[in-house]
This record gives sequence, C-alpha cells and structure tokens, in this order.
Amino acid sequence: MARGAMPETASSQACARDGAVEGAGATLRALMPESAAAAASSPVPGGFTRARFFWPMPVCIDRGDGPFVWDLDGHRHIDCLLGFGTMILGHRHPAVISAVQRQLARGTHFGATTNPERELAETILANVPGGERIVFLNSGTEATLAAVRVARAATGRVKIAKFEGGWHGWHDYLLHSFMRHAGPERQPEAVPESLGIPTAMGEVIVSLPFNHPAAFDLIRQHANDLAGVIFEGVQGSAGGLAADAEWLMQLQQTCRQAGVIFICDEVITGFRLGPGGIAGKLGLEPDLTTLGKAIGGGFPVGALAGRTDLLDLIEPNAGGDRVLLAGTFSANPVTMVAGKAQLDALLDDPVAFELLDALGERMRCGLTEAMSDAGVAGAVAGVGSLWGLHLGVEGPLRSVRSPAPNGDPTGDRLLAGYLLGEGVLMAAPVHLGFLSTCHTEHLVDEVIDAHGRALAKMKADGILG
Ligand code: PLP
Repeated sequence: MARGAMPETASSQACARDGAVEGAGATLRALMPESAAAAASSPVPGGFTRARFFWPMPVCIDRGDGPFVWDLDGHRHIDCLLGFGTMILGHRHPAVISAVQRQLARGTHFGATTNPERELAETILANVPGGERIVFLNSGTEATLAAVRVARAATGRVKIAKFEGGWHGWHDYLLHSFMRHAGPERQPEAVPESLGIPTAMGEVIVSLPFNHPAAFDLIRQHANDLAGVIFEGVQGSAGGLAADAEWLMQLQQTCRQAGVIFICDEVITGFRLGPGGIAGKLGLEPDLTTLGKAIGGGFPVGALAGRTDLLDLIEPNAGGDRVLLAGTFSANPVTMVAGKAQLDALLDDPVAFELLDALGERMRCGLTEAMSDAGVAGAVAGVGSLWGLHLGVEGPLRSVRSPAPNGDPTGDRLLAGYLLGEGVLMAAPVHLGFLSTCHTEHLVDEVIDAHGRALAKMKADGILG
C-alpha cells in the first residue's frame, strides 16, 4: 500500500462520509435559499468575513430580539451564539437601546474623551480583581496585543507564554498552538495557526501545557526571558475547557515568584462568570486583565485593566521611552454608553449570574443525556453559562490534548449546521454555546431537544457512527 493510502474499508467510509457532508450542505441550502444566495453572490471570501465559523454555509441573519434571531428566509433560531458571547442580556435590551439612541443624538465619534469613557471605566474597575487602571481598545485582539506590549515594557523581557488551546485573538504574537499542537505534552512546541506569521515569532512564544504542572517548570526555566504568561481560566474557543482552581492558584504563585506578569484573559469570561469574571470567582489577582465582548453592549470593544504601575507605563504622547497604544475608534462613546448600560442592567439584577449558571448547568446535563440517548459518543465541557460539546471523545476534558486523539472535528463542525435546521444558532468548528439572561429553562430544554434531533439525523445520514 502506498504511503498515506487508506485501507479500502476506511477509504470507502470516508467517501460515504464526504457524500453525507455534501448532502447536509444541500439540505441547508434548500432550507435557506435566501441565505445561500446572499453568500454565493457576496464578494467576501466564503460569503462572509467570518465564514469559517459557519459550515457548510454561512447563515445570513436579518434581525434579533431577546434570545432569538431570524434569518433572511424568515426562520426563527434560539441564539446560542449571541454575537460570540457579547449579548449577555440578549438582543435589543431596552436599556442598551435607549442609551445608544441618546448618544446617537449627541454624536457618534469625537476622538476626544467623553464622560461615558470614565463612567464605563469606573464600573469595570469596581468589579475586576486587581483592576486599578484601564484603557479601552476596539477588540479583544487589541487588548491582548496591548497586554503583551505592557508586560514586555515592564519587565524588559521579550518572551510571552501562552497555553495550548488558548485563543487570544488573531495577532502574530499569540496565534500559536490553538487547534494544533506539537512536541511532548510536558514541553510543547509553539505551532503557528496561520500562514503569514513570521517564523521568528516562534522564538518569542513559549507554549505551555494547560492544566498540567509541567507548565510551572517551564515558566521557571524561561523566567530570565519571560515577560508574561497569558491564560484563560476557561478556554472558550477550545470548547469550554476549565482550568483547575488549585492549578490556577499555583500558576499565579509561580508567576509572582518568577517576576513574570500574570495576565488573565477575560474576554469571554469577564462579566459572564460573575462580576469579577473567573478571577473573582476563584480569588485570583491578575497583574493585567484583558476584556472585551460583554463590556461593549454589542459594539466593538476591548480593554486592558490592571495594576497602576503597569498601566501608567502607557503614555498617550509616548516617545520611544513609554508604551504607545493607539486606535482611532478606541473609547468610542457609542460603545461606552452601550457597555455601561449593559453592565449596569446585569449588575443591578441580583439573580442574573445565578440564573446564568443554573441555565448552563441544565444545558450541560441535558446535552450529556441527549448524546447518551442518541447513542453518540462525546462529552460536554464548560462552566457557568458557557458550554462546549465535543463529539467522539470521552470526558472529563482537561486540555486540547485530551479530546484530540479520538475527536471528530467534522462532526463537531457539522453539528452547528444540523442545529440550524432545528432552529438553534451556534458557531463551528468550536462548538461553544452561550446563554443570556433572557434565555429560560424552557428554551434550554428546546435547545437540548434540538440537539437530540440533530444527532439522530447525523447518525441517519452516516455522519456519526
Ligand atoms: N481573548 C479571548 C479569550 C477570546 O475568546 C477572544 C475572542 O473570541 C479574543 C481574545 C479576541 O477578541 P476579539 O475577537 O474581540 O478580537
């Protein structure tokens, strides 16, 4: 047999699966002809700037309200994507809409500061552990980029460590070892996740094993060159993989002892797992915290918060001896008022986080049961109002290395397509679900039932064994 050739049975199974995948695409296109036509005629690669998340075809959304969105063909979907986690109150929350309308009447962008910037800053810093100062940016990607620069400036060291499976946005410094990994688990190699990243970047990135004590030794080994360690307490884009609380405490202690800046990426978890994010939940005190998503009320946003001595390195009129950050739209007043209105409504609701956590728990239990009822192998991960469903693996899931060997990435990707046919909007390939305060137990049960039907159809179509 030629190198790389499959045994006949495996190759005919793969062909049958390819056929089933094509069939699933055709079914979706027939169900959503307007969406399919919009994608097909768009000059944007793949039909949509973020098309890689929607497969076999991107759905075109017309409008949203509360926990629902409607596509161009008029189908209503329970929204478990929620603008990649931003819409924690659901769509068109009245407080957010009226704050935005008031600001629209006053002007949309000035470049100079506004009161809404200070007001949102105060609300965030009152809740984020270790947050003494804050700067606003336009995305989570910019926030982590800023964190890297500040950590380097503060320490005079150049390397940044990140964990395998961690997603911190798409800039060159941290776009490594997210879905791919290489080397032994105790000493991973940094693998770029995109063409176009200079190989030299690999020399300034230290890849660490998630939820693994070997990470502490690696931090100590690199300490002389290591500026910062960036981590997610729950690796959202890896499908909701949670770090052990004790391991995170040790991580913090190791960073402190090594004089390495401890950077908590709360772009997903901030104001979702509680007012203080994962750090508040577990009693961590990061040196720097990156934020995004929920703090913008549905508008583009990022922020870097942390210790005064670190944030004060940033000097807007910087020459080369200070940290320079910029951004035409940073601290845009429409974003600031929307974020403030969203956070106020969330924080004023005494049961919001309890409700979100309870709904998430109901979802995780229900989905585990739905997979078992459908006779499909898989595991559900996640914390609070986040969950990730991983087909073809056994739990508990501790890192991207643990689900990888038997996982079913094609199945994971297609599940989102099948769910669309059942009235549930989610993204793929990362099957990460989000809930909002306007989701209810009834809607959670509907999502679970939709998974049951989708999994049964995937089996019948030969996509799942
Ligand atoms: N950090 C984390 C943990 C994220 O999940 C994301 C995006 O999903 C980012 C950073 C990047 O944020 P953005 O997509 O706003 O650039």
